Amino acid sequence: PIHNDVEEAARFMQAHDRFLVLSHVNPDGDATGSALGVVMILEQLGKEYVVVNEGETPVKFNFLPRFDQLRNLSKDPLDETFEAVIAVDCADESRMGDVRSLFGSGVALLNIDHHPTNDGFGTVNLIRTDAAATAEILYDVAVAAGVTFNKELALCLYTGLLTDTGGFRYSNTSPYVMEIASELLRYGVKPGEVAERCLEEITFAHVKILRLALQSLELSHKNLVASITVRQEDFVQSGADREDAGGLVNYCRNIEGVEVGVSFVESEAGAVKVSMRARDRVDVSAIAKRLGGGGHAKAAGCTIRGTLQEAKETVRLVLEEALGVSSNE
Ligand code: 5GP
Ligand code: MN
Ligand code: MN
Repeated sequence: PIHNDVEEAARFMQAHDRFLVLSHVNPDGDATGSALGVVMILEQLGKEYVVVNEGETPVKFNFLPRFDQLRNLSKDPLDETFEAVIAVDCADESRMGDVRSLFGSGVALLNIDHHPTNDGFGTVNLIRTDAAATAEILYDVAVAAGVTFNKELALCLYTGLLTDTGGFRYSNTSPYVMEIASELLRYGVKPGEVAERCLEEITFAHVKILRLALQSLELSHKNLVASITVRQEDFVQSGADREDAGGLVNYCRNIEGVEVGVSFVESEAGAVKVSMRARDRVDVSAIAKRLGGGGHAKAAGCTIRGTLQEAKETVRLVLEEALGVSSNE
């Protein structure tokens, strides 16, 4: 059942003593800010916690408090199971990745999220699809839990708000987002510094893989779709890693007249990570969901097993249907 009750989420935090805190695979600023935001709340409530992700958290988030406590399960196995779990920013169970192996038999799971594709996989589900970021929901949970806001908690929540609104530019930037962002700044968060780390600064490897990826840029579907392709050999040639390849899809969507931007990123394991960004005409979360993924109306993704060619063909056809135009015009 979906409760959407911040009081119930606060009670969940009060009711248990030791927690597993997690976000989604390949965590972004909202996932990491929200996971560490939960940690800041739990510390104030005098609770014990372990904060874990299936993989590595991008080092660009190392300005966040307790970043050093974030465990990478793939490198650092854990010999413990947990009966109380808090999952943030995860639209479905699979987004938690291998961290699920740490769940005890009678696990109670608090699922805090803002994705419209969230299927309510928790024992307690706090899902608000009108929230711009999971961090926005957590702000209300922190108030309900009666914690004292300080600079560290504010920094975690601000980071989630900033990154999931693309620097307060996307259409999810509501009056409430601006109100709480403004309040968080009063605790001493330096907006220029956070934006520099999260949005402005890029690695040299990112620019190198961008240079290769731009050569693959193509328009299709009567110029309503722009796509970019990153092959395994592009990673080798540029020395970039998966994290360096983030954000390429925005170059596609931002082209004048384009309705859907798509990036196809080939992984080592015979799969293709597809990212989609929409302007107005198409709800890409519905498309991603059909392909086994999920997300938001204007930003969604999925992973397709198979070759680059197969993934591109699959996406080409669903976009033909969604846009009502032939792909080779
Ligand atoms: P990105 O394209 O940047 O990886 O993700 C864009 C949005 O889609 C994010 O909100 C992310 O949570 C969601 N998303 C991306 N990939 C997947 C996926 O494989 N499954 C689900 N459920 N959501 C995804
Ligand atoms: Mn996220
Ligand atoms: Mn989010």
